[in-house]
Order: sequence, then structure tokens, then C-alpha cells
Amino acid sequence: MSIESGSTGNAPAVRFAPSPTGDLHLGHAFSAGYAAQRGGDLGARFLIRIEDIDRGRSRPEFIDRNLEDLAWLGLVSEGEVWRQSGRMVVYRQALERLDGQGVLYPCFCTRADIRREIEAMGGAPQDHVGHVYSGKCRHLSAMERQDRIGRGDPYAIRLDGGRALDLSGPLTWTDVTHGTFAVDLSALGDFVVARKDTPTSYHLAVTVDDAAQGVVRVTRGEDLLSSTPAHRLLQALLGLDVPVWDHHLLVVDDDGRRLAKRLGSPSLRDMREAGLSPQSVLETAAARAIGRAAN
Ligand code: GLU
Repeated sequence: MSIESGSTGNAPAVRFAPSPTGDLHLGHAFSAGYAAQRGGDLGARFLIRIEDIDRGRSRPEFIDRNLEDLAWLGLVSEGEVWRQSGRMVVYRQALERLDGQGVLYPCFCTRADIRREIEAMGGAPQDHVGHVYSGKCRHLSAMERQDRIGRGDPYAIRLDGGRALDLSGPLTWTDVTHGTFAVDLSALGDFVVARKDTPTSYHLAVTVDDAAQGVVRVTRGEDLLSSTPAHRLLQALLGLDVPVWDHHLLVVDDDGRRLAKRLGSPSLRDMREAGLSPQSVLETAAARAIGRAAN
């Protein structure tokens, strides 16, 4: 596997971007096949990108296993396979650029702090995933920030969404099937652009890399629709090209549940070992996504 960290000259591309936290399942087969098909329709290159910024959950052995499973399906990257863990310098530069615009702040809150805050506001503890951060640390004084950083308190970096939108002005983004939307951060709030242990977050890395790789059509599952306003805003702040989005249906099991590694959904590897052909796996994946559309 060859890996590089530079630009590819921005030939138009589509991409499939797995996180190597386990073996791929039917949902991934559908998503990767979908990207490759759109690439074919658009005359764009099909790229595979490894999203391994989560050091705790990503495991090197899954990178090779994921690439092997994709190759078995006939899906091979038509360019270098980038690993996000090797691109921290580039993400740091993007963070500096954002910082220069005065739209970032350190957030010292722990997950437990955020959960407590939501409970205090009358939310149920299990709701905290869908809840928006209150912006508590946005109100810290410069002195308090310096003190806490000086003391070595761990912090994430958040984007001040209100200030960022004031700078960018009104923005829209377009999905080929869902339509055109105004960028609205009410569901995301001041999202994280760098986690406590790394100089990036999913939102920042995906935005920087899609632009650097010349991705003209962002294909991915519709579970990520709610993240797209964050990416559109970051593109505006960083002066990046704006792609069109193409969020596809999710593959579901017999009970209509999304497939997930943690729910024990069969892996592509299990299917291969059971003697299924790549073609039948791709067809089953498509039927299970399309089946949901018909319901
Ligand atoms: N790495 C993400 C995932 O595995 C995909 C992100 C994206 O396609 O934007 O869910």
C-alpha cells in the first residue's frame, strides 16, 4: 500500500473513506460500490482514504483487511491511499488559519461535564449525544484560558459557530437527492475541530482532505447529513472548493436496523468465507438499501 501526504493535483475524484475500527460489512460494500459507480458516471477517479484519526479505536491490521475486502469486491483506489493519521501537519495548518480568523476557543469540558449540564437543563442523560454544547467555555476570559492551559488541563478546540457564520455570511449546500439547504448550526452548535488528543476532528479532517483530493461529489450514508453544514462552513472559512453532496440510503438488516460492527452484522469476510461471490454481495447490499426506499 502506498501512502502520501501531498495533493494529487486535484483531478476530479470521488472517495470511500472507511475508519479502520473493524471489518467491513454490507453497508460499507454498498457505500464503496456507490462511490465507485458515481465516479464512473462523472468520469472521476475512485479513491480510498483511511480515516484513522481516532487513535484509540483505529487498528493498523484493519487497514489491510479493509483494503483487501474492497479489492475482493473489485474496488481499488485509483490514486494513493491516504491515511489521515499521516496528515496532522496539514490539519494543524488549517487550524492555524481558523485561529487567525478568531473563530476558535479551547474547551476544557469533559464528557461528564457536558452530560451534567444537559441534565441540569432538564434533558435526559441518554439525550446528550443529540444535544448541542452550551458554549460554556466560549465565555471564559483570556486569563482563565491561559491559566488552565498553563496548568496543563486537557482541552479540545471548538469553532464559535455564531462568529464563524457572521464572517462567512449566509451559506447553502446542495445534496443531489435531498435538495439545497441553508447552513444552520442549530443541530451542531460549536462543534469540535480538534480533539483533546489530536490536532483535528472528523469534521476538519474530512473537509480538508476532500478538497485536497479534488473530491467533486461527496458520497456517504445519510446518517452524516447532519454533519454537512459543519463541512460547508469550514470550506467557506478555509477558502476551499465546494463539492456537491450525495448522501445515500443506509443498508438495513431484516429488522430494519442499521448494520453496525457492534451489533455483530456479518462482515464481508464472513460472506466471502461462506462462498458468496463479490457480485452477489454487492447486489444484496444494493437490494437492502433500495428495499428501505420502497417502504
Ligand atoms: N470515516 C467515516 C465513516 O467511516 C466516513 C466519513 C465520510 O464519508 O465523510 O463513517
